[in-house]
Amino acid sequence: MTTKTLCLGFPRIGLDRELKRALEGHWSGAISKEELLGRASALRKRHWQLMRSKGIDSIPSNDASLYDHVLDTAVLVGAVPERYLVLSDPVERYFAMARGCQDPSRQIDLPALELTKWFDTNYHYIVPELEPPFAFSLDPSKPLEEIQEARSIGIETRPVFIGPISFLLLSKLGPKAAPGMRTLDALPNLLPVYEALFEKMAQAGVEWIQLDEPFLVTDLDPEKREAYAKAFARLSALSPRPKVLLATYFGPLEDNLELALGSGFEALHLDLLRGRSDFEKAIELAPPNLSLSLGLIDGRNVWRSDLDKAHELLRKAALRLGEERVWVGSSCSLLHVPVDLEAEKKLDPELRSWLAFALQKLEEIRALADAASSDRPDSPPFQASRAASASRKTSPRTHNPEVRKRLASVDESMFQRKAPFKERIQLQKAALGLPLFPTTTIGSFPQDASVRKARAAWKSGQMSTAEYEAFLRNSISECIATQEVIGLDVLVHGEFERTDMVEFFGELLEGFAITENGWVQSYGSRCVKPPILYGDVRRPKPMTVDWAIFAQSRSQRPVKGMLTGPLTMLQWSFVRDDQPRSETCMQIALALRDEVLDLEKAGIRIIQVDEPALREGLPLRRKEWEEYLRWAVNAFRLTTSGVRNDTQIHTHMCYSEFKDILPAIVHMDADVISIESSRSRMELLNEFRTHAYPNEIGPGVYDVHSPRVPSVEEFTQLIERAAKVIPPEKIWVNPDCGLKTRGWKEVKASLSNMVEAARRMRATYGG
Ligand code: GLN
Ligand code: ZN
Repeated sequence: MTTKTLCLGFPRIGLDRELKRALEGHWSGAISKEELLGRASALRKRHWQLMRSKGIDSIPSNDASLYDHVLDTAVLVGAVPERYLVLSDPVERYFAMARGCQDPSRQIDLPALELTKWFDTNYHYIVPELEPPFAFSLDPSKPLEEIQEARSIGIETRPVFIGPISFLLLSKLGPKAAPGMRTLDALPNLLPVYEALFEKMAQAGVEWIQLDEPFLVTDLDPEKREAYAKAFARLSALSPRPKVLLATYFGPLEDNLELALGSGFEALHLDLLRGRSDFEKAIELAPPNLSLSLGLIDGRNVWRSDLDKAHELLRKAALRLGEERVWVGSSCSLLHVPVDLEAEKKLDPELRSWLAFALQKLEEIRALADAASSDRPDSPPFQASRAASASRKTSPRTHNPEVRKRLASVDESMFQRKAPFKERIQLQKAALGLPLFPTTTIGSFPQDASVRKARAAWKSGQMSTAEYEAFLRNSISECIATQEVIGLDVLVHGEFERTDMVEFFGELLEGFAITENGWVQSYGSRCVKPPILYGDVRRPKPMTVDWAIFAQSRSQRPVKGMLTGPLTMLQWSFVRDDQPRSETCMQIALALRDEVLDLEKAGIRIIQVDEPALREGLPLRRKEWEEYLRWAVNAFRLTTSGVRNDTQIHTHMCYSEFKDILPAIVHMDADVISIESSRSRMELLNEFRTHAYPNEIGPGVYDVHSPRVPSVEEFTQLIERAAKVIPPEKIWVNPDCGLKTRGWKEVKASLSNMVEAARRMRATYGG
């Protein structure tokens, strides 16, 4: 027996985003449920075959999903909130939980479950909702079908499941739960379902399963540790059961290492990219019948690995434990990287030689495992890895002396607005003349087929740049006119020129490269194409100023200038790993600061700098928060602080878990922030009961992740709720996020209702 290779999870959308197309085709009614399921199945089979062709020994199943693997787990354990049971078709019910379902002909109006970020990634999962009496029941149909499906092409798989403790910690309590209750209280009811699952897997002849417990890399209080110990003891004692690979990722186990090593299961996976510090202790303390799966290849980034460095660890582990007790894999699931570098035809050859996507990472895994018994491997993959490391270190692409000099000369005053908020807001009010409960949107408007078609025609050369720009001006004019008809107070240009808020700036800034096919799932059918930030960042010329001037020329009302903030540019790109992230972030901030000042010079009175990724970038361990928040907030301040007092700075964030970072958000000192909150029915407001937010705030009232149209009453209720906690004169009325992925019809209807609700509020509050 030799060292085993494994794939922890494979990107599920497909190289050509086949799953996205099938899903959206189905949702629009163009393809049947059977067709959708057939296409999803064909894609899974192709992925299994690809993994096998790359020499992967242990291949996952049940990691693929029609929407999200946390939602799949909720269905697996029967945690389906009662209200969705009116839908009898399992697929329709599944999508109703994910996206909401509105069908007046059947009198169905179901909001979606909450959507939130998966740890510190840009992947969003559906938050399961649990309610007493916590009546779970096993529905193993999905994993069983996939096991059989893989067997039908001769592949034996390792089904992947989220473990019981992480499942509970990812969930929230439903409205019927008593105050003070925790989701962990449901553990006694949940464990029998996992026991039944283990039994089913044994019956199906499955040799190995993977149990994901990523919460093991977070700070655990005694109650959570006890829950882990209890779950491990119960599940490992079962007989018969499949062998279990307990998977952890995204950080070091640190104080939870012994808990994980003592699980009683057969294998433990460690993320040795972010959790390198666990390594020595883990190989020393691993009990004799435990195998260690080494996450040596970065599953979160696109750089070709330094195979010599990885090999050193592999060798140490193999010598200590024996080759057969060591597995090699990526740090975490490959869900977070694009599928295949081979699909990139336009990348610069030097940059390309530095990169590895999912399939190339599987090759690296194979190359490492093949070298497990060698002291000085020199196979072609090792040679290529050495060449890439050497060229990255010395290439002029990664070092621009001018950028470095400017960053070194930044001084304290550049982080500070000229006057405090109390003074600024008076000047801004006078300049803008807005009503009470001013209404606005977050920036993007629907990018329908006409926008996508024009962009594709321009990219392929069928449409000239002049024609394309005329098309965009036309879209902006129409969008502004529509917003005036709807009655919004602060307008936006609509962002039609942007495919993506990060990619757009990545294309215009030096130091970034854009891929053609580097798609990564963000949520459901939605994918993003993160730019690759490989070198020093510089703004060769203004990026948004002409569009902003044009948009403002179409209306008397203020039109917001719209930029993506430095932290979000960083967080949503694949970032260089050869210098601290903080340093890279400050380079971006300086480039954006120039853009902010150019917008102001051009007569733009409100400038929004979006930082939707601030919260997700928060380290998983609390002891690292302060340091992160210090430089992240400073980067925002460096971007925005150069403006006059009467220029209003807005920021936007796509989440509502504010509790722990409210002081940092206050310290950003934006004049207005808009945040997400409608899906959680304004739960964020609880934070404001204890900590008042000093500046103005727009708690999102319209859930843009769902095609549902909320009524005027529903909007009014949400604003009313906000007005109980936040002084009315500080409240803005806006959606949760940009409207890019919605359709025009529902957007017009929803925004009109939203504006009407704001008018009613004005009448009530006497504005
Ligand atoms: N201004 C961006 C938009 O409206 C913000 C998107 C985001 O927060 N993710 O699309
Ligand atoms: Zn947003």
